[in-house]
Amino acid sequence: MSTTLVEPGFPAEPPQPGRSAALPDAAAAAAAARAERAARARAVAARLGAEGVDGVVLSWVDNAGLTRVKSVPVRRLEHAAAWGVGAAPCFDVFLVDDSVTTSRLIGGPAGDLRLIPDLDRLVRLAAQPGWAWAPADRFAQDGTPHPGCQRRFAGRMTEAARQRGLTLRAGIEIEWVVALAGAPDEPPGYPTHGPAYGMHRLTDLSDYLRDLLRALAEQGLTVLQLHPEYAPGQFEVSLAPDGPVGAADTTVLVRQTIRAVSGRHGLRVSFAPAVEPGVVGNGGHLHLSLWSGGSEGGTGAERNLAQGGPGRYGLTAEGESFLAGVLAELPALLALGAPGVASYLRLRPQRWAGAYQCWGMENREAALRLIPGPPDEGPGAANAEIKCFDGAANPYLAVGAVIAAGLAGLDARLALPPEVADDPAAAPAGAVSRLPGSLEETVAAFELCAVLREALGDPLYEAVLAVRRGECELFAGRTDQEVAAATRWRY
Ligand code: GLU
Ligand code: MG
Repeated sequence: MSTTLVEPGFPAEPPQPGRSAALPDAAAAAAAARAERAARARAVAARLGAEGVDGVVLSWVDNAGLTRVKSVPVRRLEHAAAWGVGAAPCFDVFLVDDSVTTSRLIGGPAGDLRLIPDLDRLVRLAAQPGWAWAPADRFAQDGTPHPGCQRRFAGRMTEAARQRGLTLRAGIEIEWVVALAGAPDEPPGYPTHGPAYGMHRLTDLSDYLRDLLRALAEQGLTVLQLHPEYAPGQFEVSLAPDGPVGAADTTVLVRQTIRAVSGRHGLRVSFAPAVEPGVVGNGGHLHLSLWSGGSEGGTGAERNLAQGGPGRYGLTAEGESFLAGVLAELPALLALGAPGVASYLRLRPQRWAGAYQCWGMENREAALRLIPGPPDEGPGAANAEIKCFDGAANPYLAVGAVIAAGLAGLDARLALPPEVADDPAAAPAGAVSRLPGSLEETVAAFELCAVLREALGDPLYEAVLAVRRGECELFAGRTDQEVAAATRWRY
């Protein structure tokens, strides 16, 4: 007996106001949008096929911060773009070790979702011959957006800013540690023992780093900088800023590329917050600038709101309120930016991780570092860096949540408190607040955060909360060494 599959609708646009026959209109619009996606995908698939691509990876990042994928053969891309690829909603409550918790509104064993690839971001993977990649948005089977879709959350927050006449540019610094694949793990077998920021390290891994630069460039990414970092075997790459969703997509793609190039050089990669306890970890610092009067990505007669204003270091009133909103919500924002138990092995004073809830001009120990930029470098240079975020963060959740907190600060016309210009650890006891020192403390702040609850919406908020609580339980009573070992190769 054959089963008739009912394909989902994917209405592309809300019904037009004032039309009585709204439903047929919506269905027709959905069908037209689907046909357009299919036609585009057909052309893209033909090109990819001619270029020797066999498979397309569709990725999303789960609430634990792990990138999950489905893939399709290239000739199935058209169908995937039109109808989506099935994926279970239980991924929304996966923990870092692949165990599964539950939440009230999403994440049960029943049901199915559809992953729709974003063809605008599709790219051939330079270090994985035969493969292309595209980030996916998640929809319900009836075509309505899945309320747990983290990428759409980042898009919604970007849109909320746009409705106030504001655009954002974002960039996430990517730090990682490489170890020799197959070497004993405690401690990891580092392929270079050169000093922090040392030429020695760059020389030892010269071919590897060149291949990485090549692969990133081939994928159309603009690298700003690549350097050896502080911790053993650690490196960092930073990319040109983009819109918030674009910056998060770039983070996924760059990490995928780093992993693939590393594998080709016999190396394994860790983006985990704490590769070894007691050592500087892998940050995921988020740079952000707020602009008025422009378009996404930054062209036209726009104005950087961190520059040329009457406030401290040239901040405009709007720019200051946005940052004050972020600063005020930092303890709760850590639920998105420092989401794992291991995050708190990294988020310690005097490790440049930004463990204090304060801001300061070029202050690397402040969670919020204001970067005015050289006066003659042009308006693009001024931005704020959120340092307390790490490599376990889902970049879509992190960037979306920061925008939500910033917009709340803007609406409330918040002002920044006094600056902390030096090491907060050296300030008199209690003068500067420490950010949460454990995931439990962060969960307590997140539970009280109305701004993030409203922005995420109950289904996504509760799923994130369930995952955070689940990981607190998972690692309860474990030593720092055990937590680092269990999460080292997961992100
Ligand atoms: N690796 C440090 C961190 O955990 C940051 C080092 C730096 O300032 O770039 O965030
Ligand atoms: Mg760094």
